[in-house]
Amino acid sequence: MQNEGWNLENTYAALPEIFYQNQEPEGAVSPEIVIFNQPLAKELGLNPANISPDIFAGSRLPCGANPISQAYAGYQFGHFAMLGDGRAVLLGEQITPKGDRFDIQLKGSGRTAFSRGGDGRAALSPMLREYIISEAMYFLGIPTTRSLAVATTGVDVMREKTLQGAILTRVASSHIRVGTFNYISAFGTKDDLRKLADYSIWRHFPDLENKENKYILFLQEVAKRQGSLIASWQLVGFIHGVMNTDNMSISGETIDYGPCAFMDTYDPGTVFSSIDKLGRYAYDNQPKIGAWNLARLAEAVMPLFDGSESEVIEQAKGSIAQYWGSYNKNWIAGMRNKVGILGEEPTDTEMMAELLDLMAKNKLDYTATFRSLPSAQKSPPLIDWHKKWQSRLKNQDENIMLKHNPAAIPRNHHVEEALASAEQGDLSEMHNLLAALSKPFEDSQTYSQPPKHANCGYKTFCGT
Ligand code: AMP
Ligand code: MG
Repeated sequence: MQNEGWNLENTYAALPEIFYQNQEPEGAVSPEIVIFNQPLAKELGLNPANISPDIFAGSRLPCGANPISQAYAGYQFGHFAMLGDGRAVLLGEQITPKGDRFDIQLKGSGRTAFSRGGDGRAALSPMLREYIISEAMYFLGIPTTRSLAVATTGVDVMREKTLQGAILTRVASSHIRVGTFNYISAFGTKDDLRKLADYSIWRHFPDLENKENKYILFLQEVAKRQGSLIASWQLVGFIHGVMNTDNMSISGETIDYGPCAFMDTYDPGTVFSSIDKLGRYAYDNQPKIGAWNLARLAEAVMPLFDGSESEVIEQAKGSIAQYWGSYNKNWIAGMRNKVGILGEEPTDTEMMAELLDLMAKNKLDYTATFRSLPSAQKSPPLIDWHKKWQSRLKNQDENIMLKHNPAAIPRNHHVEEALASAEQGDLSEMHNLLAALSKPFEDSQTYSQPPKHANCGYKTFCGT
């Protein structure tokens, strides 16, 4: 067989048995690649020319794979639940030519020991949606899992109607979740917990390995990454939609693109997910939920901390403070870049709040408003604000603004159009959209435009 470039290790499968179940993908009837990420494949050290669709449709295992489904729990909408990879199989960890390690996971490859009532499958359109939005996040510079391929399996999946089954090959710096810690904390021993923390440190925070108090430092580093991640979501108007602890990665990457979407019109209370009736995961709640999730991680790792009970509690509280410190620092720095202000003045925060308030009251498009701020002196709702801003901007830097305010984001109406065509076998719109999203800071005739009918009850769905 020609060299496909696989260089897989399986360190997660070397953890104790409680962490996973051996699990082969179910296989496909007629494997076909729908989209393949050539640049990512090259970065991973794969040889795209030699790779056939069967691996990405779950019909053949790559050399060196030791397929498993990972066990985890999660607080779903605030309530603890045992979950695990109900429709995913981790093939192994690809070691890239540069020496980096990435999980290669098939999502939608059939039932597993954790499938509960589900069929373990995924439909084509939601997998393409994950492909589009995760790649958009990557090019926006936001930490994220990536998408290597989507392949159809030839197996029908039954949802409200019969749909084409598909598998997404997801690439992640790991799939260790806050929910993995919740799981081990509930069902494992202290030794298991230590192994999970040591493994997470080895994979994501190797500088901490020989430090005293490394478990506290680990929690603090996760806190900082989560704070910075969620600030970057807020800055681009991204709504994750299902921030359960099983969907929060320890690495600080955005993971699990289910009911997520970008906001068009700025409304801080925006919720897209059809099941989020109370708005727990609304745009303006995301920072608070990040802190809540981190508190669930702190509770899980606390048994590893040294010190008296009150000291341990103080340390855990300190990590939440670090989260907020990181969130606020990154948000304000990002906002300064978005409005192009250099230096710091005491009234800056107020000026930004005023802008956001005007945007909300006047139902302005979040992305387009920032992108076009320099020419907003003629836009009635912003005329006064624009004058104030101009006098603050002694040294205006429009270049900074152009680098921090995307022109092209995966707007819902464009994504839906691309997916509808793709389902009919026409991938051209999806490729055009992906091309624009890979240069998000360049103006695009088609993709920079807000929709004509913004916020008309757009709804997103989980687990499709
Ligand atoms: P999510 O909302 O995507 O984070 O999924 C929550 C849980 O449901 C995870 O344990 C998933 O593996 C599981 N799940 C989602 N869809 C399916 C499916 N079609 N079959 C089995 N398990 C699923
Ligand atoms: Mg999930």
